[in-house]
Amino acid sequence: MARTFLSWPVLRQLRSPDKLGRGTAVRSRQTDELAARTEAADRVAKSVCPYCAVGCAQNVYVKDEQVIQIEGDPDSPVNRGRLCPKGSASKNLVTSPLRQTTVKYRAPYATEWTDLELGTAMEMIADRVVKARNDTWQDIDDRGSRVRRTLGIASLGGATLDNEENYLIKKLFTAMGAIQIENQARI
Ligand code: SF4
Repeated sequence: MARTFLSWPVLRQLRSPDKLGRGTAVRSRQTDELAARTEAADRVAKSVCPYCAVGCAQNVYVKDEQVIQIEGDPDSPVNRGRLCPKGSASKNLVTSPLRQTTVKYRAPYATEWTDLELGTAMEMIADRVVKARNDTWQDIDDRGSRVRRTLGIASLGGATLDNEENYLIKKLFTAMGAIQIENQARI
C-alpha cells in the first residue's frame, strides 16, 4: 500500500479507532508486508514428529515438492497445534545441508571416520550379526530350560524410527532369537 501524508502514524492514530496507538495505527510497513511461510505452500501433508514418544502431529508444508515449513497440527488431541523446540526444528531433519547422507565407519583404533558404500556396510553388519548369534546361541539355559535364544545381540531403537520400521525390527530380531529389544519410547 502506498504511503502518503495521511499514513503518518499520528494521523493514522487520530483517524482510526486505535486512538491509543497500540495496534494497527502504529504498525510498520515491514509488519504489514510480513506473510507466513505457510501461505506459499502448494499443499500440506499430515505427519508425526519423529523425535520422541509423545508423537506430536505435524502439518508439513510443501512447495515445489520441497518441505518449506513444519508446524504443529491443531487437529491433533496430542499436541493441539503445539511443538516443542525440537519438534519445531524437525524441518532440518529433511532439509539441512549438514545431514549425513553416507554411511560412516570408524575402524578399530582409527581416529577418523571414513565413508563406506551402503552395500559394503550391510555385508559387514550381516557378517557380525551372524557371528555374534553363532557365538552366543543358547538352546538350554543354566537350569535346563529350553530357551533357544541369544543374549549376544540387542536392539535399541531410536525415536526417529517409525511404526513400520519398529515392527520390522521387532520381527527380525525376535526371529534371530534376540530377546533384548528396546526403544527410546520405553526408556
Ligand atoms: S514435538 Fe517435541 S514433544 Fe512432540 S513428539 Fe516431537 S520431540 Fe516429542
